[in-house]
Amino acid sequence: MEQPDLVANTVIDNPRALTDKINLIRDAGPSKFQVIADFDATLTKYRVNGLRGQTSHGLLQQGNADYDAKRQALYDHYHPMEISPVIPIEEKTKLMEEWWSKTHDLLIEGGLTYDAIKKSVANSSIAFREGVTELFGFLEKLEIPVLIFSAGLADVIEEVLRQNLHRTFKNVKIVSNRMVFDDDGRLVSFKGKLIHVLNKNEHALDMAAPLHDQLGADIGEEEEGNAYVKQRTNVLLLGDHLGDLRMSDGLSYETRICIGFLNDNIEKSLESYRKEFDLVYINDAPMRGALELVSQLFSTEAS
Ligand SMILES: [Mg+2]
Repeated sequence: MEQPDLVANTVIDNPRALTDKINLIRDAGPSKFQVIADFDATLTKYRVNGLRGQTSHGLLQQGNADYDAKRQALYDHYHPMEISPVIPIEEKTKLMEEWWSKTHDLLIEGGLTYDAIKKSVANSSIAFREGVTELFGFLEKLEIPVLIFSAGLADVIEEVLRQNLHRTFKNVKIVSNRMVFDDDGRLVSFKGKLIHVLNKNEHALDMAAPLHDQLGADIGEEEEGNAYVKQRTNVLLLGDHLGDLRMSDGLSYETRICIGFLNDNIEKSLESYRKEFDLVYINDAPMRGALELVSQLFSTEAS
């Protein structure tokens, strides 16, 4: 049963519509289902020990103070533009590409090592919401894929998962900026297309697909690309921004349940969040609600 504090932090605009979606997804079964999640401030807590938790980009210390300062200077320059409501989207997209590529260049130039990533994660203030391990574990048993879409850094996110969850999950895949290291563990380049905050949704599903092929007991030889994730047309989407709702854009889904974590500016944003998300959790709530939801969808007794 839900704990009282979770109930107090849960907002459901239309319980009837949610129940209908739950029934549809349950009837279709786990083989039609997938989970798509944002990483920062969705799977992780917004506040850690009373302070803003770090992001996968923010926690990274290159072991080279000059380069850390240069990346911080880029943040100070571009972040106000990222959140500016007046810059047109095309212009903002260019600015974000600029910011991300300059940051990636600095990581290469400054000689980032995999060792520095491990140390940065060990020293970081980043923490998963309570219940994330149980959620991933429950989904793994049912072979339900979890795609984590992030404009951050895949290698950092994987290290955060390793160090904080103390185990790996074969159903969990990261779609994010992925690094290439040389034999000495030094960063030499980035793989594939740059994923920044404004384009993470466009191609995310296509980029995710090959990652999941290895999971796919039910993928045929002739099927290629994103067939495997695209045939799972029922979705649970987890995000902390309205923009995260677009993570499922590459999928023509049948039924989608969206959970929104509203971490900040609650009074100002609750109205729009409750309209857009089926369930809204406020005040940095745990992941327990999502766990209860999927247990309700595919409980062993019900099947
Ligand atoms: Mg986020």
